Amino acid sequence: MGICGGQKNTDANSDKPGVIFVVGGPGAGKGTACAQLVKKYGFMHLSTGDLLRAEVASGSEKGKELQVIMSEGGLVKTEDLLLLVEAAMRKNGWAKSKFLLDGFPRNKENVVTYGEKLMDKTNLLGILYFELDQETMRARLLGRNEGRADDNEETIKKRLATYENETVPVVTEMDTQNKNVWRVNSGQTMEKTFEDTVVQVDKMLG
Ligand code: ADP
Repeated sequence: MGICGGQKNTDANSDKPGVIFVVGGPGAGKGTACAQLVKKYGFMHLSTGDLLRAEVASGSEKGKELQVIMSEGGLVKTEDLLLLVEAAMRKNGWAKSKFLLDGFPRNKENVVTYGEKLMDKTNLLGILYFELDQETMRARLLGRNEGRADDNEETIKKRLATYENETVPVVTEMDTQNKNVWRVNSGQTMEKTFEDTVVQVDKMLG
């Protein structure tokens, strides 16, 4: 699929930012884990959802287009998203930083387009995968009440379906291909989940 992980951040790659893909269903706790990882490792956290919501909030024409898709629980065009991602990386130190790309990839188009647009410019360190069953994800989303327009029963159903039908197969395929997928069970307490996350990240970077 054009994503060949496993390269290490060697001197030869020092002109490139390090990138860790962070995958997991809606409500799986990626955001919480990323915040903890930022503290421990000094990574920069880029949430695809936050980047897209910022574009929507800017009131741009593109933002209006994105909002329609997001409010329906669909996935936006990868090219639109990656333009925002690259701009955010350049604003945040580029090759001096290691980025947690939280919420990416979510479908095959994400993977293919990253391969075309950003793979050569970045150093993909690995894929961190937070696993959680659908029922717990649903309950967490309904309970978190952060005021997000897409945290309602109907859109949640659609986001969970998108996750199962598009994201899980793509992560499974990457795992088979490059063995650079690091799994964490996020159905545990926050502390234990983070402990396991650190073990996996250390192995990935090791
Ligand atoms: P979630 O809690 O569902 O993981 P996010 O905040 O990560 O929500 O994303 C919100 C919305 O932004 C998604 O439902 C989708 O419409 C869009 N989005 C986020 N990441 C991507 C991506 N990698 N590719 C396409 N669309 C995305």
